[in-house]
Amino acid sequence: MSIQVTRVDESQRKPIPSDDAQLGFGRHFSDHMFLLDYNPQQEWHHPRIVPYAPLSLDPACMVLHYGQEVFEGLKAYHGVDGGVRLFRYRDNLARMNRSARRMCMPTFDEELVAQALRQLVLLERAWIPRTEGCALYIRPNMIGTDPFLGVRSASSFLFYIIVGPVGAYYPEGFNPVSIYVSSEHVRAVRGGIGEAKTAGNYAASLYGQMEAKKKGYTQVLWLDGIEHRYIEEVGTMNMFFVIGDEAITSPLTGSILPGVTRDSVLAILKAWGHKVSERQLAIDEVVAAAEKGTLREAFGTGTAAVISPVGNFFHKGKTYRVADGKTGPLSQKLYEHILAIQYGKEPDPYGWVERIDL
Ligand SMILES: *Cc1c(COP(=O)(O)O)cnc(C)c1O
Repeated sequence: MSIQVTRVDESQRKPIPSDDAQLGFGRHFSDHMFLLDYNPQQEWHHPRIVPYAPLSLDPACMVLHYGQEVFEGLKAYHGVDGGVRLFRYRDNLARMNRSARRMCMPTFDEELVAQALRQLVLLERAWIPRTEGCALYIRPNMIGTDPFLGVRSASSFLFYIIVGPVGAYYPEGFNPVSIYVSSEHVRAVRGGIGEAKTAGNYAASLYGQMEAKKKGYTQVLWLDGIEHRYIEEVGTMNMFFVIGDEAITSPLTGSILPGVTRDSVLAILKAWGHKVSERQLAIDEVVAAAEKGTLREAFGTGTAAVISPVGNFFHKGKTYRVADGKTGPLSQKLYEHILAIQYGKEPDPYGWVERIDL
């Protein structure tokens, strides 16, 4: 399938934001987008890059009522040598197909979408910010489009990709966040849709997130939905705790999103010879370690922030400090190492980075 390209008229081009320090996250979108249609007769067809514009959808279309949707989030980087790099993007596409299967949506040809994604990024190359820490955010999305109000899986779908420049996650530097361990709300339960990157999980998280914000915390740490005991994840990040010399992250039990950054951190820690475990970690064990002074660091991992150090956490009426409220040495080292690979400052021993402009 060849990808048809309709370029935006010169006179319709949007101004590219000129100040990288003001970019923020998810506010700017470039001049073009990629679209691909699905119906049972033709299956996936009509791949095209067109000028960025609102979609025309029937108000009865199924995604708007029952949330049959999956998405991804990844970035393109302007390297120190001027090259354009993608980081493990095939893992994102494979995960999107796994999410699609869970949500009864048709899987797509990862080769075709990989090609479309590279083509769109290169067409929008001028939109990739030059400042380290900034990047072109890539948002693939898939929605059920049938105009029908019965509850069942849709039969027609739209796949699309939009892109836009995003700022460094830490405009004032790499500062630790405070997190609220939610004892009242849960994000996902085993057997549910927690391991799919799908809209419903985020809708489910909004109330707890709002409560945490009201109490002065940046993010919610979710515990498991059955016993309210085991660490799951934080906002849109997976979690690591360093207790003594062991770095611990939750196993992929089905209610946790299998993060690409989580997987990268696991591989790096193993390569560094650091003790690392994927095991169930009860909040009581974290609290006990904090009280004993053996909780050295805690950090979240995700594409947007890469590594997000935790300075303190609140649980059942008490606040516990982590790493003296500062960024711990392991968090710092991981952050610098991953960025160096993404921006081509250091060799990539893992084969994670692909330069796409050659
Ligand atoms: C996307 C996401 C992550 C992080 O995944 P990455 O692939 O590392 O970006 C973690 N948790 C949730 C709930 C997410 O949506």
